[in-house]
Amino acid sequence: MATHDRGSASVLDDLPAFDPAAFDALAERVPGDGSSTAGSSASRTGASGATAPDRLRVTAPATNEPIGSVPACDESDVDRAVERARTAAAAWAETPVRERAAIIDRFGDLVRDRREPLLDLLQLETGKSRTTAVEELLDVPMACAYAADHGPAALAEKRRGPALPLVTTATVTYDPVGVVGVISPWNYPLTLAVADAIPALLAGNAVVLKPDEKTPFGALYLAELLELAGLPDDVLTVVTGEGPVVGPALIDRVDYVSFTGSTETGRIVAERAGRNLIDCSLELGGNNPMVVLADADVEATARGAVQACFSNAGQLCLAAERIYVEEPAFEPFRDAFLAATRELTLGTGFDYDADLGSLIDADQLARVEAHVADARETGATVLTGGRARPDVAPYCYEPTILSDVDPGSTVACEETFGPVVSVTPVPDAATAVERANDSPYGLNASVWTGDRKRGEAIAREIDCGTVCVNDAFLAGWGAVDAPMGGVGDSGVGRRHGPEGIRRYVESRTVGVSRVGPLTFPERISRKHFVRGAFALSGAGRRLERVLRGLRRRIGR
Ligand code: NAD
Repeated sequence: MATHDRGSASVLDDLPAFDPAAFDALAERVPGDGSSTAGSSASRTGASGATAPDRLRVTAPATNEPIGSVPACDESDVDRAVERARTAAAAWAETPVRERAAIIDRFGDLVRDRREPLLDLLQLETGKSRTTAVEELLDVPMACAYAADHGPAALAEKRRGPALPLVTTATVTYDPVGVVGVISPWNYPLTLAVADAIPALLAGNAVVLKPDEKTPFGALYLAELLELAGLPDDVLTVVTGEGPVVGPALIDRVDYVSFTGSTETGRIVAERAGRNLIDCSLELGGNNPMVVLADADVEATARGAVQACFSNAGQLCLAAERIYVEEPAFEPFRDAFLAATRELTLGTGFDYDADLGSLIDADQLARVEAHVADARETGATVLTGGRARPDVAPYCYEPTILSDVDPGSTVACEETFGPVVSVTPVPDAATAVERANDSPYGLNASVWTGDRKRGEAIAREIDCGTVCVNDAFLAGWGAVDAPMGGVGDSGVGRRHGPEGIRRYVESRTVGVSRVGPLTFPERISRKHFVRGAFALSGAGRRLERVLRGLRRRIGR
């Protein structure tokens, strides 16, 4: 492993023992301690008019016990963080892209090397099972490797088709936007915070990251690792605090906002970004469908459905919540899926024994319970699960399969974001696609079939940003060279791939004339010039068509 030695011991060394002092030390990374304006209740008011306490307590969902606290930043804290980031951004943008890539690559190595304490921390903050937590520990280095290997090419200036061939040239350059604000959720607190910041950093931006109030320590830990990897001071800053206070203050000051969270908050973020005329990407919610065709391998599909529906206890934006099965396969699939689900284990231990961990908090548990209660009241049958498991942990909920779900019920129309899925028989594939598309969301879907070609054809009919064939979501998510994002209420913009890097830059077109100004020449009458110009452009167009036809004929 290549590390950049900053010559000082790291607070991270203490983390495996969950020493409260280590959490305090991590919290000290947050600029301003939230008390800069203490004493005046008016000055604790954020840009949106919301007020904040001085500190936010972070609790472990698995036990509901406090694990530490972080500053509740206010508008002035955000102001200072963005100012410092803006100063740091100037030098960072001048750092050669290969050097920036090397730092990100080293950071990926450090994440891999520190995976055990990171897994512990992740489990502690989120209550997720280790089996799920490990996905993030694979994802972050993967995002780093992609950015380091492919980012420089995506950012390299490019020649484009000129205004007038041989007479002019057009070159596009990509410059960092300046300071990027990243606002992230709690469900995948490493991936969705830092992995989204990585392409922004690679592109030469400074980043001010606001993690969710419930999961700030993972982001702070990774900020420390970025520093160890050689990231200069203030190029990435974590500001903690309440969303309605810190979020608007950040959006008012940065040059781009990368938001991941609920559709409801996404609309607020989009409005504010729009008012400030800054660009944004919005990775929002989903109510993702899974389509099972009659020729699907039932056992493999059942295994896939377990992964699709119950990864991270269903608190995954890509999770399937609606399954439509062609009638001939319905009963065999339902039975295999039920059997596989009943074998799942619940637990919050720091080992790989449990399949599902805890939900994040009491609100999330209440939402899941409300959705299942509404499904029952509107005629659904609970095939398995359907109850909380406080005997395992305060917010645990059993993996739940529903049938006979009313298409108008909450569970059918809204995102549950928990371990709950409905299975519905449909007469044919066309109806399955129709039902799958009957949603304002459009994030992720999957098609399961023995005929991959047909699966791909059906995938193209589903209105989602990502559709996987014979896989739950990893074939799409793991293709880090391919764009990932939602349509409709699932969001705007794309992460991953060159698209995910270029969202963080401004393009500039440099057009050069080899013959001086492209205006009416002095020695020809304007009337003759206009006639000649149109004749030339018509002839050029005809020539292009002939050449295109020839190329087609010789297969080039
Ligand atoms: P949320 O919208 O409540 O919070 C997300 C972030 O926004 C948090 O950091 C929060 O503090 C902040 N925030 C809250 N109010 C704000 C405001 N007024 N202005 C600016 N920021 C504000 O979302 P959540 O409940 O924490 O996360 C779950 C949701 O996120 C689900 O809907 C899930 O589908 C979605 N999600 C989407 C993706 C994706 O890639 N599409 C990934 C993960 C989660």
